[in-house]
Amino acid sequence: MPAKTKPKRAGSESRRSSAKARARRATRSPSWYTSPARMRQIFAALDRLFPNAGCALHHANPFQLLVATILSAQCTDERVNKVTPELFRKYPTPQDFAAIKPEALEPDIRSTGFFRNKARSIVGAAQKIVSDFGGQVPRTMEEMLTLPGVARKTANVVLGTAYGLPTGIVVDTHVSRIARRLKLSQETAPEKIEQDLMKIVPRERWISFGHQLIWFGRKVCQARKPLCHICPIETICDSPDKTI
Ligand code: SF4
Repeated sequence: MPAKTKPKRAGSESRRSSAKARARRATRSPSWYTSPARMRQIFAALDRLFPNAGCALHHANPFQLLVATILSAQCTDERVNKVTPELFRKYPTPQDFAAIKPEALEPDIRSTGFFRNKARSIVGAAQKIVSDFGGQVPRTMEEMLTLPGVARKTANVVLGTAYGLPTGIVVDTHVSRIARRLKLSQETAPEKIEQDLMKIVPRERWISFGHQLIWFGRKVCQARKPLCHICPIETICDSPDKTI
């Protein structure tokens, strides 16, 4: 997306514009933030910005996506994508992962951080998939949550991206931050934010909405300095984090 340089406003013009924004905010009721009309504006902007938003983790099947998603906790997708090609060459199937001790996996995934926990989760999940699910990643949220190291976020990524099943909305750090800034949820726990979003996002958008918000968080509504001057929903955002 081309970055626009925002022209500096003259002092009086800037004051008039701030006054207008304050007046606009003052007329907004709490229910306006999650109203269908505002949600439609948000969806339209996300569709324009990221019409084909998808998962950035490289994978060839549901099991590889599960492993990559476990590795992506507290780590960038770029870093995970550097580690997984060699990892999947070395251990091509769930059975291969299930047959090793977690310690054997640690050196291969060390650079993704928290590698001891991640190794335990990956080997434990592989063992359970082999013993209880015939070597196939399960297709329901309930079954996914029985796998070691898998919570709703990971389950939603795998079920949504690999199987196309809208079981919920992926809530990662980007989605949490944007939901708060756009006042779509007052909650802080990912599961509660997800429940709030599921009430205001139509089910057919659950999968794409998660992907789109993650890309929006990476490219526009960034954590430290959101690029509000190029944000297409700036006029309907009242976040105190705004940079204009
Ligand atoms: S205006 Fe700024 S804070 Fe609000 S959604 Fe856009 S980028 Fe994020």
